Amino acid sequence: MTEKDCLFCKIIRGEIPSDKVYENDLIYAFRDIAPAAPEHILIIPKKHIASLNDIETEDKMLFGEIMYRASVLAKELGFSEQGYRTVANTLDHGGQTVHHFHLHLIAGRQMTWPPG
Ligand code: 5GP
Ligand code: ZN
Repeated sequence: MTEKDCLFCKIIRGEIPSDKVYENDLIYAFRDIAPAAPEHILIIPKKHIASLNDIETEDKMLFGEIMYRASVLAKELGFSEQGYRTVANTLDHGGQTVHHFHLHLIAGRQMTWPPG
């Protein structure tokens, strides 16, 4: 999968519309098209990184930025105190369907454990 063909790279470039909730030079956050809960946001790096398997040493700050933004958005959107779930699925056994890393930020209902 190249950046040219990647669904989430197309969303970052604006070639596919999305419901954006945050953007800076490093990351982009938008609402999931098929929400699993009342609030379901995907936070992605603008750099095409296929999965957690593909993080390089130089990406460590970038992934700190992603987790930091999850924390800030949870407060800004008003669900930090009730709680929420952050998930990153990796490849087949993880259930990853889009091969551009994304952190799911899911909130607004009681979650269960273990996940399916
Ligand atoms: P994964 O299964 O890879 O962890 O998560 C991929 C997520 O991307 C799914 O929750 C799916 O609903 C979402 N998704 C797939 N295509 C699109 C799209 O075109 N737009 C948006 N906003 N979300 C999408
Ligand atoms: Zn991509």
